[in-house]
Amino acid sequence: SSDTPSAHDLQALATATPERTDAFWMPFTANRQFKKSPRLLASAEGMYYRSVDGREVLDGTAGLWCVNAGHGHPHIVGAIQKQAATLDYAPAFQMGHPLPFILAERLAAIAPDPLKHVFFTNSGSESVDTALKIALAYHRVRGEGQRTRLIGREKGYHGVGFGGISVGGMVNNRKFFGSMLPGVDHLPHTLDIKRNGFSRGLPARGAELAEDLERIVALHDASTIAAVIIEPISGSAGVVLPPEGYLKRIREICDKHGILLIFDEVITGFGRVGKAFAAQRFGVVPDMITTAKGLTNGAVPMGAVFTSKGIHDAFMHGPEGAIELFHGYTYSGHPLACAAALATLDVYESEGLFEKSIELGPYWEDAIHSLKGLPNVIDVRNYGLVGAVELAARPEGVGQRGYEVFNRCYFEQNLMVRCTGDVIALSPPLILNKEHIDRIFDRLAATIRATA
Ligand code: PMP
Repeated sequence: SSDTPSAHDLQALATATPERTDAFWMPFTANRQFKKSPRLLASAEGMYYRSVDGREVLDGTAGLWCVNAGHGHPHIVGAIQKQAATLDYAPAFQMGHPLPFILAERLAAIAPDPLKHVFFTNSGSESVDTALKIALAYHRVRGEGQRTRLIGREKGYHGVGFGGISVGGMVNNRKFFGSMLPGVDHLPHTLDIKRNGFSRGLPARGAELAEDLERIVALHDASTIAAVIIEPISGSAGVVLPPEGYLKRIREICDKHGILLIFDEVITGFGRVGKAFAAQRFGVVPDMITTAKGLTNGAVPMGAVFTSKGIHDAFMHGPEGAIELFHGYTYSGHPLACAAALATLDVYESEGLFEKSIELGPYWEDAIHSLKGLPNVIDVRNYGLVGAVELAARPEGVGQRGYEVFNRCYFEQNLMVRCTGDVIALSPPLILNKEHIDRIFDRLAATIRATA
């Protein structure tokens, strides 16, 4: 209606009368600070956002590690529009429609063997909770229902469901929310700036941290442990890379003890590190992979859990007509999400985007390491088209310098980066070229100098 404020009015409103914007309780945001100086995006195309005040903002983060094919891709937009006008919704239980069958088959084709079965969700958090539940149910249907313990990692981020925060290892996501799931242990994280600072690619030292899994097994006995969940590269904790050989060793220990291994590839899935999945780039195949984000290029919410044939088939026994897994969501395999995902896969394939991280990786690596030596830069990390610049915390508090760099990049340099604590994280759309890379690091370097 004519009463609806335009995006630009909204910015004016938020600045002038912040109390009128209180209805929207923003997620993972300092609400009161944001509403004093809001960062509002109005539209997007390719590598750029346009802000409500009319600036072109270079997207250094693919939105939130989602928009791997760039913004507003016409093929994806068209597919969503067409699907909305054809079949808007179909019930997800005891009824179906063709698209999730077609999509699952296409996803299975790009997933590593033997992860050829797909369960659809609506987000990364739901994918994680789904995978944890499948792990517990899998052991139970095989007569090993005593395997109930779950193992995550310090600094791990697995979304915000109670399962995800329980296996996750970020204190702020845990400390307000009670005692969470029982029976969870945490492996140590692998971030070690003292030993591995300014590594190019995977850090050389730290594979021995995988041996801690044997300590946990010795403490509880393998017969009580269901699964280990790990992000091959963790993003939210500030881009933590696996040391050379670490993931392989975790896989070996899980195999030895009959423990399932889950890779949370919500950020690394769909080409971020040069293959469809990090599992393929690292040559380590888990029993399940959780995904979301790049699955639909961020355009419609969707997640997916890939499971091995062994896990899937373990459920396909028992009397026919009995439901095999009591789990699912009203929007599992939603028609719009399926259409977006199918079109996104077309684009990844036709534009060769999964290979971009290998092609551009060396240039990206040189560019990000050129920031070494700038004031307050205490580490630089990179792999594929993932990057992190860690800044020294201000004496006044952890995260303040990171936030200032992020905020000034946006307002002064028209560059969108992400800050987590004092780490500036980068994960650009995979359609970028060398000029974009130069622009990202010129602008980030200027901001780091300006905040010194
Ligand atoms: N797992 C990982 C590794 C993630 O990075 C994220 C989100 N950044 C999630 C799970 C949660 O995804 P969502 O926000 O879609 O629930």
